[in-house]
Amino acid sequence: MPETKVKKTEDFHEWYNEIVELADLCDKRYPIKGMNVWRPYGWKLMRHVDELIRDEMEKTSHQEVCFPLLIPESLFKKEEEHIEGFGSEVYWVTYAGNNQLEERWLLRPTSETAMYPIFSLWIRSHTDLPLKTFQIVNTFRYETKQTRAFIRVREIHFFEAHTCHKDFEDAERQIEEDKEIADRFLKKLCLPYIFSKRPDWDKFAGAFYTISIDVLMPSRRTLQVGSIHQYKDNFARPYGITYETRDGTHSYCHQTTYGMSERLLGAIIGIHGDNKGLILPPDVSPIQVIIIPIIFKGREEEIISECNKIYQKLTEEKIRSHVDSRDITPGNKYYDWELKGVPLRIEIGPKELEKKEIMLVRRDNGEKKLISQNILTSAVKKELSDISTSLYEKAKNFLRENLHRLQTIEEAKEKKGIIELPWCGTEKCATEIENILDSNTLGEPIENIKCENTSCPICGNPAQTWMRYAKTY
Ligand code: ZN
Repeated sequence: MPETKVKKTEDFHEWYNEIVELADLCDKRYPIKGMNVWRPYGWKLMRHVDELIRDEMEKTSHQEVCFPLLIPESLFKKEEEHIEGFGSEVYWVTYAGNNQLEERWLLRPTSETAMYPIFSLWIRSHTDLPLKTFQIVNTFRYETKQTRAFIRVREIHFFEAHTCHKDFEDAERQIEEDKEIADRFLKKLCLPYIFSKRPDWDKFAGAFYTISIDVLMPSRRTLQVGSIHQYKDNFARPYGITYETRDGTHSYCHQTTYGMSERLLGAIIGIHGDNKGLILPPDVSPIQVIIIPIIFKGREEEIISECNKIYQKLTEEKIRSHVDSRDITPGNKYYDWELKGVPLRIEIGPKELEKKEIMLVRRDNGEKKLISQNILTSAVKKELSDISTSLYEKAKNFLRENLHRLQTIEEAKEKKGIIELPWCGTEKCATEIENILDSNTLGEPIENIKCENTSCPICGNPAQTWMRYAKTY
């Protein structure tokens, strides 16, 4: 069976660059660097990911909104840290037709500064709270580093939830809910993750604190696929988001945001794929079951009609399937659908027809199973669920094997992946370790992991907590 030119195990980044185009996810030939074209198959995959998060938002009473793409400079500048953090990454609109604008507009890099002036009009009373909104839109960031499909791009397919609360505690409850959403959602994508609380000097511009959601790629570099931010009233003050309390006084809202992007696709591609192509998690795969007729002369009609029956049955059970009736060899069809990562294949030939059986072949491990026709839908459902579990477990093992809790720099130098070292709490020591290990700080584990009787490997002072380091995308 043909394989990709570049082996995943030999050169992960080259393999990744090759596979995103071979599998018809995106077209990188658009003449602006970092702005790729979503091809139909890639867009469908992204849409299924979006549907899962929409579903989670619906269940947790968030309302979908859609704010304008352009933000006036004056609104953007209201929160000082925010403008400092994003200033060098924004695209500006300075002309409308032939007229130079009196005030510049920018393409949203994220939507706080578009939404919050309007939230200040929507929220009047404590009865308007909590306000829980989200949108799925494209955002723009002028990336100067090397771009990479889905991982580092300049036009980003972006999910952002924005909430307003009566006080800090209620906003904290929202963050707990966000963590639960991330957990359910990422399990469906078969992506094990870690939550880290970013160090103060590396949090989101304007946030009180930031929790990053990172996954570990096969290159043993981490990829941040999402983040959750507690803003306190840092934005509510400059944007005047207040409400009338029960006793008639006015208070500032406390706010949170939760963001994720098309990087999720980058993680799915990178973590699950192999030398034959993508391996897609069944929950988001555009096609879950590909049905391949094994045509024999004189029995064409019978076989095709059986394939169509199977398609009908699966569709009735809301299993996304497709009959590949193209006039090419079955071998070529296998190759195509393996490349596209369809989790399960059904083969129907004269033998299967006679015995009233169906051949199931798993994409992830190649396992073949002959089942009786009358258990078709239950068997397919079970296989899809097993594939999901084993993709998750395999990735979880990889993460576990590459997460090292150590005591000294010497030990850390020997390891690849995510390193946890005792930390005294100062920026100076963390930065020094970053330099020595040639990696970045991810943040502290949010679970309270004991670090008694340990000391900072740089200054020797007692450790306050653990700090994580990794090479990152
Ligand atoms: Zn120290």
